[in-house]
Amino acid sequence: MSNANHSIQLTDEISIPSVGFGTYLIPEDAVTQAVKTAIAVGYRHIDTAQGYGNEAQVGDAIKACLADGVITRDALFVTTKLWPGNPAWGDPAKSKQGTIEAFNDSLAKLQLDYVDLFLIHAPSGGEMRVQQWEALLELREMGKVRAIGVSNFSEAHIEEIKSAGLPLPDVNQIELHPWSQKPELVSYLLQNEISAIAYSSLVPLSTWRTQEGQDSAKTDEMKADGAGDASPFKAMAEKYGVSEAQVLLRWGVQKGYPVLPKSTNEGRMRQNIDLFSFEIDADDMAAIDTMDRGAGVAWAVGDPTEMG
Ligand code: NAP
Repeated sequence: MSNANHSIQLTDEISIPSVGFGTYLIPEDAVTQAVKTAIAVGYRHIDTAQGYGNEAQVGDAIKACLADGVITRDALFVTTKLWPGNPAWGDPAKSKQGTIEAFNDSLAKLQLDYVDLFLIHAPSGGEMRVQQWEALLELREMGKVRAIGVSNFSEAHIEEIKSAGLPLPDVNQIELHPWSQKPELVSYLLQNEISAIAYSSLVPLSTWRTQEGQDSAKTDEMKADGAGDASPFKAMAEKYGVSEAQVLLRWGVQKGYPVLPKSTNEGRMRQNIDLFSFEIDADDMAAIDTMDRGAGVAWAVGDPTEMG
């Protein structure tokens, strides 16, 4: 099955393509071309955020692809995220009204009439968290977003929404890969019919965010563990005749998580979407189950679930 057709059901009416194109850390002057290339090679799901500072350039790419007839709007799934503020960083939390204004600004930058999925990027809004969620519910009611969700929320943050008597998120986008499997949170999400979306799938690669300005909390030991012949993912890649990145992404898809690989390299973009011609066997899936190391490393500033 080609990737463009491979999707996961989010709600009765809404499905999400299993492979999305991540746009975090793509420089402003490169992101329009990167998104155009991603769409040209088959991606039908784009993940951006107010906090990435690139919504306008992502919007330029989508606009050009729509104008050129490369895609139709309903064939594309676009996600963006609210930057909720973070009082702990001296960045005031957004109110309900502030959330709606920020969404309208994102929509204008993306040059779209609606987005497919709108997320609260992190639980750092503290006392404003529930208000921010009320704003997302209102935006869905208004038809400006199809699905709504959260990102980096813990079980306690979702329970807060439940206690307020409000409908629960459709999704929680979290760091999920063999080194950060979050089994308790994932099972809580499943019980509450909230889909998990996996970000930073490629963390166990030795090359992941190693360039200047690409911070992460990955330790030197972790960098070394992803390198060389001893990497278990390298052995699996050889066994299946694919790359280590494909093994890591296929693991996410096989677990039922949409994945969001980011690359500015066309060859790797093609590779990262080519996940449906092989399957990780049960023994290897069981071996990966034992590799969990706990919390994620993508946020260099610390655990985003602890913020605010
Ligand atoms: P990622 O996709 O896990 O990894 C990207 C890194 O891997 C880049 O350095 C890329 O370099 C390299 N790479 C990509 N494909 C490769 C391949 N086939 N072989 C070898 N190296 C490869 O990292 P991420 O950006 O952290 O996460 C992906 C997306 O998830 C983000 O872009 C963003 O949309 C989302 N995200 C969300 C949150 C959140 O808080 N909600 C946090 C982090 C990320 P090249 O570009 O040179 O190929």
